[in-house]
Amino acid sequence: MFGNPISQSKSPIIHANFAKQFSIELDYSKQLVEQGDFEKSVGSFFSDHTSVGANVTSPFKEEAFNWVDKLSEAAQVAGAINTIIRKDDHFYGENTDGAGLVADFAFNNVELKGKRVLIIGAGGAAKGVLPALVRAQVHAIAIYNRTSARAESLVNDYKTRSDVNVTTYSEAVNEKFDIIINATSLSLKGELPPLSNHVFSDCHVAYDMVYLSHETSFLTLARTQGVKHRLDGLGMLVEQAALSFFHWFNKHPDTSELRRTLIARD
Ligand code: NDP
Repeated sequence: MFGNPISQSKSPIIHANFAKQFSIELDYSKQLVEQGDFEKSVGSFFSDHTSVGANVTSPFKEEAFNWVDKLSEAAQVAGAINTIIRKDDHFYGENTDGAGLVADFAFNNVELKGKRVLIIGAGGAAKGVLPALVRAQVHAIAIYNRTSARAESLVNDYKTRSDVNVTTYSEAVNEKFDIIINATSLSLKGELPPLSNHVFSDCHVAYDMVYLSHETSFLTLARTQGVKHRLDGLGMLVEQAALSFFHWFNKHPDTSELRRTLIARD
C-alpha cells in the first residue's frame, strides 16, 4: 500500500485476516512514498512479477489513476483509484471506496434510496464515493468544500452525467439533509467543518470517513445536535478492502469477524 502518511493504516491487518480465510500466502505492507516518487515506487513494486496488486491512499489516488493503463467504470467516473490490479500484462485501476461506503451503509441498515445527502469535502474520497451514491439512487447530493472551486468542478462533472440532483452546498443552503457524510480529514485534527449547526436539523445519519479510537469531533458534534445514527469510517475501510481483495483473488472475504476484532483492538 502506497501513501503519505501511511503509518496509521490498518490495511495490512485487514488483508492478513482476509488472506488467512482462504489460506493465501500474502505479503501486504505499507510503503511511505515522498511526493514526486509515486511512479518510481509503484514501478519498482510491480517489477516483481509475483506482485498481483496494490492499494493506493492519499495523496496518490489521482496519480495512480493516471499511472494504470485500464480503468473500471467506477474509477473513470471517480477520477481517482485506490486499487491497482495486475492482469494479463495490464494494470487495471479500480476505486472501491464508493462501493465500500455503500456496503457499510447496507451493513448498518441505512437506506440510501431517495435520501438527501450532504457531502463535506471534495478530495479523492469524496470523488470516489459520489458515483456509488448516485448509483444507489439517492435523491439529491450537495457538496461543501473549503476550496469552493473543487466542489464546483465535481458538481459540473455530475450535472450532465446523472439524474440525481448534484449541487454545491451554497446552492442548497436552505435545504434539509437526511444523511451528512464528512469526507474531509478534519477529524484527524479534532477540527470541524465551518458549517452552521442547522445542517443537522433533519439529519438522521452522520458518517465520518475518519475513524479513531475515540469518537471523532464530527460525530461528537452530530451527537450533540441530536443525530441518532452515527458511524465512523472503520466499516468503510473494511468493506473497501474486501472489494480490493476480491479484485486480486476473485474471493469474497467475510468482514463480520474483522469488524468486531478491529473495534475491540482500538
Ligand atoms: P484529500 O487530501 O484528497 O482531501 C482532503 C479533503 O479535506 C479536501 O476536501 C480538503 O479541502 C478537506 N480539508 C482538509 N483540511 C481542511 C481544513 N483545515 N479545513 C477544511 N477542509 C479541509 O483526502 P481524501 O479525500 O483522500 O481523504 C479525506 C479523509 O477521508 C482522510 O482523512 C482519509 O483518511 C479518509 N478516508 C477514509 C476512508 C475509509 O475507508 N474510511 C477511505 C478514503 C478516505 P480542500 O479541497 O479545501 O483542501
